[in-house]
Amino acid sequence: MDTVSPAPVPAYRLEDLPGRIAAKIRVNPVTGCWEHQGYPERRGYVRVWWQGCRWLVHRLVYTLLAGPIPDGLTLDHVKARGCRSKACCWPAHLEPVTRGENSNRGDGPTGVNQRRQSCVNGHPYTRENTFMRKEGRRECRACMRDRARQQYRAQAEAEGRTVRVKGAYGLKPSVLSLQRIDERTAS
Ligand SMILES: [Zn+2]
Ligand SMILES: [Zn+2]
Repeated sequence: MDTVSPAPVPAYRLEDLPGRIAAKIRVNPVTGCWEHQGYPERRGYVRVWWQGCRWLVHRLVYTLLAGPIPDGLTLDHVKARGCRSKACCWPAHLEPVTRGENSNRGDGPTGVNQRRQSCVNGHPYTRENTFMRKEGRRECRACMRDRARQQYRAQAEAEGRTVRVKGAYGLKPSVLSLQRIDERTAS
């Protein structure tokens, strides 16, 4: 079994933790994750009491074994290091990062979208074409314009108005407006 030599990691030891905390941790033999067996809250993280405060258990264990987490930083469960559990509190699997970086790495919509180079309709996410929502979600400006234009046309059609859409942004006038214009010139 000596064929694979694991990358050297700082030797964090369960026995350096307070017994009460260590007793609840199971080391996953496949991933190496230190999985805390406490009941997870809604978002999948486990909280524990420690010295009169309620802590996210991975933040507590990291603080006790690796040192304080810099202000404002969140602890990422680093997938690239093999971490597969939100209940994991092995400091070797954790890394302090900014909140933005954490959601970029994740599998949530923000992370997946952030790594994508273009929108679902293939418009590139360039700086000019990207609208940043407050939550950090990107939105394609070309698609926003298309949606606004469609809405405008639908509204106009509902009201029986004739719409001529300018060929802005390289778009041809819509089929709808062409039909309307043809009807008008024919009669
Ligand atoms: Zn882990
Ligand atoms: Zn788009």
